[in-house]
Amino acid sequence: MDRRKFIGVSALFTGAMMVKPDMAFASPAQESKLATGLDIKSYVKEPKRKIPVIDSADVVVLGGGPAGVSAAVAAARSGADVLLLEKQYYLGGLWTGCCVLPIIDTHGCAKNGSWTKCIYGFAQELVDELTKMNMCIVHKGHPTPDPEATKYVLEKHISESGVRLLYNCYAAGAVMSGDRVDALILDCKSGRVAVKGKIFVDCSGDGDILEWSGEDFEKRKTQIGAMWRYGNAENLNRPGVFESAVKNVKFLHMGGEKDQDGLDVYNLTRLQLKYRKMMWEKSMEDKQKPGCEDLFLLDTPSQLGVRVTRVLNAVHNVEFEDSLRYAEYPDCIGLSGGDSSLTYKHGLIKGANRPIWQIPYRSLTPKKVHNLLVAGRCFGFDEGLTYDAREIGTCLVTGQAAGTAAAMAAITRTGVRDVDISKLRQNLTAQGVKL
Ligand SMILES: Cc1cc2nc3c(=O)[nH]c(=O)nc-3n(C[C@H](O)[C@H](O)[C@H](O)COP(=O)(O)OP(=O)(O)OC[C@H]3O[C@@H](n4cnc5c(N)ncnc54)[C@H](O)[C@@H]3O)c2cc1C
Repeated sequence: MDRRKFIGVSALFTGAMMVKPDMAFASPAQESKLATGLDIKSYVKEPKRKIPVIDSADVVVLGGGPAGVSAAVAAARSGADVLLLEKQYYLGGLWTGCCVLPIIDTHGCAKNGSWTKCIYGFAQELVDELTKMNMCIVHKGHPTPDPEATKYVLEKHISESGVRLLYNCYAAGAVMSGDRVDALILDCKSGRVAVKGKIFVDCSGDGDILEWSGEDFEKRKTQIGAMWRYGNAENLNRPGVFESAVKNVKFLHMGGEKDQDGLDVYNLTRLQLKYRKMMWEKSMEDKQKPGCEDLFLLDTPSQLGVRVTRVLNAVHNVEFEDSLRYAEYPDCIGLSGGDSSLTYKHGLIKGANRPIWQIPYRSLTPKKVHNLLVAGRCFGFDEGLTYDAREIGTCLVTGQAAGTAAAMAAITRTGVRDVDISKLRQNLTAQGVKL
């Protein structure tokens, strides 16, 4: 059975679907597993129904994490009518929802050997604003904002740029028209509805639209972890406990279980239960330490720390080896750096500082679908780059580029692979992006 047919079959069980006009779901026959790996017990048949279209936009961005907010704001500032869809009731994705606070990747090693800032643009705007509010400190060289202040600032930028935001919208499938995404199907409190768009930007982190549109992607397993916060923690000083932007509040990091499937709901539930229990027990243990009697568990993450699931097989995936040798691309749309200690720890760059690396537009561009771009932790990069390509700094960069290109494609009515690259680079430079 080919992949497209398989996705159709999967849809009966999950509600997720790729629907082609006049395409009936494939017969359930003998399939025993979903495309995402879960066992199929049996089938129910969803009655055929018309799904009301409630909205449309030049650019529809799926996911309000760092990449999605950056994409939506960039597209709106470039003159497009933009709709941003988010299943939660806050912006920032893992950044704010998993207490993943330090913005890594803002610096890297320049060719002359100096540790140099390489990320500017929208990322810099956010850092400047949060710093002015006294809501951002520098932690191990990385700007580290407060999550609530970040949610506030992201929502402010969304409204000021004129992006139309819809919370509580869980995208569950795509309707295709040939090699174009025609609409996204949303499950929300208003019912099952659809929104149409000229250009779609997949910032779901998990590459959901890649799967529904039949685009080429790779599924990866990863370490799934979490971060959380303590209040009244001024006297707690042990490894793994870090200062935050708010006095007496500290955040903690847990790498988590390795080689995990971030698309398996049973596994995600198991990990969430295990980690929350562990965080509570750890807080009780830390409370016993001298001077920590008033310490309390301030919050546990509302999103589990899934690092990578689906990754686009782009027109050109960024290769780890290329990123080490300062590869230059004519369609470079932004730079990224890394965290030398982290990359060293994972044995990826043996002791060297992480070189600044270029991100080509082609790594955000699918090979087949004409009106889809990808940004954030699911754009096209090889496995070696996992610890740099999905950090918040890079997500803000790929988001800004994808949003700007999406607006250009929507306004000039071209496919994403036909966007004028020199104009795109000019537009990004005008927005303060360093190329
Ligand atoms: C434990 C852990 C620690 C980390 N530490 C750091 C760190 O210290 N510094 C750093 O820079 N990076 C860190 N990262 C990486 C970084 O946080 C993420 O890679 C980054 O947030 C990804 O941004 P994104 O916008 O691509 O995706 P996400 O942040 O995952 O955002 C995706 C958004 O899309 C929404 N969404 C998803 N699917 C749907 C759907 N079907 N319908 C509607 N909405 C949907 C989600 O609710 C979410 O808001 C860490 C990651 C983890 C897991």
